[in-house]
Parts: sequence; structure tokens; C-alpha cells
Amino acid sequence: MVQEYTHFIGGKHVKGTSGRFADVFQPMDGTVKARVPLASASELADAVANAKEAQPKWAATNPQRRARVMMNFVGLLNKHMDELAELLAREHGKTIPDAKGDIQRGLEVVEFAIGIPHMLKGEFSDGAGPGIDIYSMRQALGVVAGITPFNFPAMIPMWKFAPAIACGNAFILKPSERDPGVPLRLAELMIEAGLPAGILNVVNGDKEAVDAILDHKDIAAIGFVGSTLIAEYIYARGCANGKRVQCFGGAKNHMIIMPDADMDQTVDALMGAGYGSAGERCMAISVAVPVGKGTAEELMRRLIPRVEAAKIGPSTDPTADFGPLVTKAALDRVRGYVDLGIQEGAKLVVDGRGFKMQGYENGFYMGGCLFDHVTSDMRIYREEIFGPVLSVLRADKYEDALRLANEHEYGNGVAIFTRDGDAARDFASKVQVGMVGINVPIPVPLSYYTFGGWKRSGFGDLNQHGPDGVRFYTKTKTVTARWPSGIKDGASFVMPLMN
Ligand code: NAD
Repeated sequence: MVQEYTHFIGGKHVKGTSGRFADVFQPMDGTVKARVPLASASELADAVANAKEAQPKWAATNPQRRARVMMNFVGLLNKHMDELAELLAREHGKTIPDAKGDIQRGLEVVEFAIGIPHMLKGEFSDGAGPGIDIYSMRQALGVVAGITPFNFPAMIPMWKFAPAIACGNAFILKPSERDPGVPLRLAELMIEAGLPAGILNVVNGDKEAVDAILDHKDIAAIGFVGSTLIAEYIYARGCANGKRVQCFGGAKNHMIIMPDADMDQTVDALMGAGYGSAGERCMAISVAVPVGKGTAEELMRRLIPRVEAAKIGPSTDPTADFGPLVTKAALDRVRGYVDLGIQEGAKLVVDGRGFKMQGYENGFYMGGCLFDHVTSDMRIYREEIFGPVLSVLRADKYEDALRLANEHEYGNGVAIFTRDGDAARDFASKVQVGMVGINVPIPVPLSYYTFGGWKRSGFGDLNQHGPDGVRFYTKTKTVTARWPSGIKDGASFVMPLMN
């Protein structure tokens, strides 16, 4: 029996009424696990109306009490970790240990949100003029929305809604229609944690629901994470409608490997960062750039057998290195890129296209693929593949490697592997990428720093989570106060000065 998902509006599960549905697959065996309703503009409007009604009371609830809901929610996430990880792995395809990492990195932002009362404090200038005090305060925006991708169905929704709600906003979450089970469960747990109804609403859907969010006059801000073309579209239309918008897009993350790098560490890092989660991470390493012929030869000698030996398995196999891709369409797209790479003249040294998982023949599996002698004009280098495919581009010198990363249109993450402090320092300073790892392959900053890419990986001024998350979901008000004891002059017609 295929389960039918709902929306979550006003603290309750609400059946979809648009008559449109999408299938939610279980990638490990290719079966349809559930149907998810795709909201119409009027269903989205119902959610916004609920949120708008509930928000003023929530904003007036003192910040410490709001933080307590976050604290309870952390407890519930830990209590339900196994259940959430199993659900996540079944709908996404990643392994259960990796699914726990997805939940954990979201949970850490909820932990950060517990401390948000501290960050909502304003500034105060006592005696800025005769009898005059000036102070500033941060206030919630009202109703805000988050539109999130399939690849981190726990982490990214929490990155969005936890800071927004802790700041006093009401939230509309439009999760990916490919794996909506965990976001719906998170909303239930937030209610169990003490969140009032209407403050976190989950509206499932596709472009129709997204367009309704972009055009709804009562939504003040939108945080988006997904592919770059959609990010650009959402940024342009949301801004044109006068909303505050931040959009995080696709990536092509390079790992520069210097001749002095520890090769054991480098190969381990490339395996995990290139092939973990079947390469479906925005911070996955998809390009390795060994510097110098000797480095390249040594890298390939060690890497090829490791890629060939990677253990692929169903999401329920805790010993698997990675699982299937999210859908058949994703599998076909990634295989298509491997075919393209061969046509473009790259050398496919490990071919995982024919991989079949015994007992799970209809699952969306693909073995690891490794290309050598990729060049910067090839589409397999310029475009995001988002699968277990690693490209090796050989560079003669460090400067060539740096130029590659700098000239790429994406600028999400990058890493350098070296023992040379000078080279690492020069790289960190000059590279045109938002998040940099030094001997760290996936440099996702912790929750109290901010996360965001440069160039066509990010649109908008502020990053997500950390201090920028608070700035994005609040607006500053500045108050200048003069008390009767300070008022000595009569009417003044000149620009006020604090003399
Ligand atoms: P996607 O762009 O297909 O979907 C993201 C969201 O946009 C979903 O909620 C989806 O329903 C909605 N959407 C899809 N098509 C739309 C359209 N035509 N109009 C309006 N809305 C639409 O992305 P995805 O496949 O779910 O996720 C993978 C992508 O996300 C990759 O490109 C990856 O690099 C990127 N990503 C980026 C980051 C980051 O922080 N930079 C993090 C995770 C994922």
C-alpha cells in the first residue's frame, strides 16, 4: 500500500486538494514508497494565512521561551535519531550512518539557535546628545519561507527554519518533493517540542507552490537551496517582488593536490568527499587537480584500485560506502555525463555505469567512475554532474591549479592538500571560493560560522546559519529617544545635530 503524504499547516496534517501528486521513490529498490501532494497557490495561501495569524504572538513570546522550544527539539531529534535516519535513508538513498550525519549537522544549527537570544540584543548609546539616548533592536520579519533540495532533507530545512523561528518569525517550508518524509516528521517534532501551531508549516509541491511563494505579498523573505538555474530564477523573481532573498546554488569543488601532500590522507579524503552520498553533496569534491606529473601518476596509481573497490549497497547496509542515486532520472542524467566525457576525449579509467546491485536490480545504483586527462573546456568539467564521478585535471604548476579554481563559474567549496604552510596560506588568501579546506576535503563550516558559496554558487549578500542567519531573518530598528529633561530649545528648523 503506497502511503499518501499530506501538508502540515496550522499544526495539523492537511490532505492535498489540488489533485496533483508526485511519486516518492525508495531508491534502493526502485519502488514507489509514497505519493506527495503538490500544492496549488490557494493551499499555499492557507498556510501563509495560518502563519500570519500565529506570528505576532510568537514574536512577542520572550526570546528565552522561544529558545526553550529549540532545546526541547534537540532532545527529540536525539531521541528519534534512528527512526529519522531510517526514513531519510529510505527516501534519499544515502546510507544510515550518512543519514545520521545529515540530521546531526542540522541539529547543530538548532543548538546554535538556542543561543540566539544573545544575538538579538541591540546596541545602546547613553547620552548620544543632550538628554538623548539611541538604541537599536532586531525584530522578526514576519512570515518567511524556505525552499530546499533533495540532497539534505533534514539538515537544510533545519538550517532555514531553526534560526528563523528562534528570531520570532513564522515559517513556510517547501521541501523537495523527492524526499518530503523527514521534513514532515521534523514539523511534528517541533510541535511536540512546544512550538505553537502555525509557526512551522510544511507545504509540499513543485514549481506551482514555489511560484506562489515568490508572488505571495505576505511572505517577507525566502531562503533557497538547490541548483543554480533555479536559484537564479528564484532570486530574480523574489527580489522583483520586493522580498529579501538568499539563494545557494550548484558547485564544482576542486581539490588541489600539491607534490608534498600526504598521499594516504589525500586518497582517503578523495574517496569520502568524491563518492560519499553517491556524490550528491553540494560540497562533494568533483575535480582533483594533482600538481606535477609525479603527483598525478602517484595519485592515479593509488586511486584507481580504491574506486574500483568501493562498496556500493542498499541504504540499509551500514557497511556500504555509498548507496543509490535519488531517482531513475538522476541516474540517467549522471550516466549521460559519463558518456559525454568519453565523447569529449577524457579517459574513463574506472567505469561504474554497468554496476547492478544483486537482489536490488531495480534500484538506482551506479558504480564509481573516474576520469583522467580531463581538460577545462569539457562540459564534464564545466557543469555539475552530481553523481559518483570524479574528474582528474592535471596541472603543471600551483599557479595553474589556482587559476582553474578561480576561473570556474562555481565557487562553493575548495580544498588544498599540502604540508607547505606557505602554499596553503597563499591559496586560502587568493582563491575565489566561499569555503576553503586545508587538508580538509569537505569544509562545511560549523553552525556558529556561516555557510555560503561565491560566484554562481550563491546569490544574495548574506550566508546561511551562524550570525548571518540571524541577520537574514531579522531587520534592525534604531530608536532615538529624548526625554523632557533634555528638551531646552524651541522649534528647530535645521537638520538635527547632537551638539
Ligand atoms: P533543484 O533545484 O532541482 O530543487 C530545489 C528546490 O527547487 C526543490 O524544492 C524543488 O521543488 C524546487 N524546484 C525545482 N524546479 C523548480 C522550478 N522550475 N521552479 C521553481 N522551483 C523549482 O535541486 P535538487 O536537485 O533538489 O538539489 C540538488 C542541487 O542543489 C545541486 O545543484 C546542489 O549543488 C544544490 N545544493 C546546493 C547547496 C548549497 O548550499 N550551495 C546545498 C545543497 C544542494
